[in-house]
Amino acid sequence: MERVFNFSAGPAMIDPSVLEKAASEMVCYRDKGMSVLEMSHRTGMYLDIYNEALSLFREVMGVPEGYEVLFLQGGATMEFAAIPLNLMTGSRTADYVDTGNFAHLAAEEAKKYGTVNVVASSRAANYTYIPDVAQIAFTPDADYAYITTNNTIYGTRYIHLPDTGSVPLVADASSNILSEPMDVSRFGVLYAGTQKNIGPAGMAIVMVRSDLLGRQNPLCPKVLDWAAQAKNDSMINTPNTFAIYMLKLVCEWMKQQGGVPAFHALNQAKAKLLYDAIDGSKLFSNPVEPRYRSLMNVTFVTGDEARDDAFCKYCAKNGLVNIKGHRNVGGMRASLYNAMPMAGVEKLVRTMAAFEKDNG
Ligand SMILES: *Cc1c(COP(=O)(O)O)cnc(C)c1O
Repeated sequence: MERVFNFSAGPAMIDPSVLEKAASEMVCYRDKGMSVLEMSHRTGMYLDIYNEALSLFREVMGVPEGYEVLFLQGGATMEFAAIPLNLMTGSRTADYVDTGNFAHLAAEEAKKYGTVNVVASSRAANYTYIPDVAQIAFTPDADYAYITTNNTIYGTRYIHLPDTGSVPLVADASSNILSEPMDVSRFGVLYAGTQKNIGPAGMAIVMVRSDLLGRQNPLCPKVLDWAAQAKNDSMINTPNTFAIYMLKLVCEWMKQQGGVPAFHALNQAKAKLLYDAIDGSKLFSNPVEPRYRSLMNVTFVTGDEARDDAFCKYCAKNGLVNIKGHRNVGGMRASLYNAMPMAGVEKLVRTMAAFEKDNG
């Protein structure tokens, strides 16, 4: 069967060459006589894979010295709890900027451990913009300030990072990690679930500045304790060995393709093609304030639910799947992560034009 273009927000597309490489090594990994799925995480053959994954990720992401990189289970949502458990132990207050569902959930989780100040929010406008970061009054003695760099459901992204002075900036980059250059040194903690722009589900990558380790709440569960995980190479217990292996393959593929700068250029071109098509259409529109439009998750609506539904079905018939928007927004959402080729976006744009011609 032919592969479809999968516009899912996550888990999402993985480049076929990566999947084929994994398939070719599935039964016997190189000369090891066993699958990666069967390897003990304590053996040399697996530790080689782990070390390679770690160093490739550091290289592709441009993680500077002075940062630990952790591969943890539980996805991004587990980190919603791990962040306050590891950091909210000084003034026991933290600032959150509420720019979407996941930012809101992270703030709600943190309230269990201290005082959360929602210092800015676009919730009342159904998250169609990012608050102007220069206008936000951050709390000078907060334990950290928290943002979501790209809002997966609403299709917005930060265009400037806030200046929080000596307060560490903590950011959820689950849906735009590795899609554009990011200066890791601007962040105290930068983290992402892996199932959007990297590989399979079931893991989060946490980049944490070393001086922020060791502040954990005494009740912090050991598996959520970043300092303990850093000391144990993220292997306090059995890690997600297969997701770490897939991360290695994805980083190898990214390097071959020219790394983050090459993907950034491609992602800009893909997003431009789709936004231009939406802006040029009489049927489709994008609800987001244009300068905050996401490169990764493009939301659009016809304004009529039945017509949105008909369009999604029309797409599916043409091999363009998972284009239905999140229930909070309705309409459509096309996720254009690194593994979505230009050909997929070109086909989507052609399909939109054909649908509009018949249904406009
Ligand atoms: C998908 C997503 C999450 C949730 O990820 P899980 O791995 O399911 O916990 C959190 N934040 C953002 C920005 C996301 O896109």
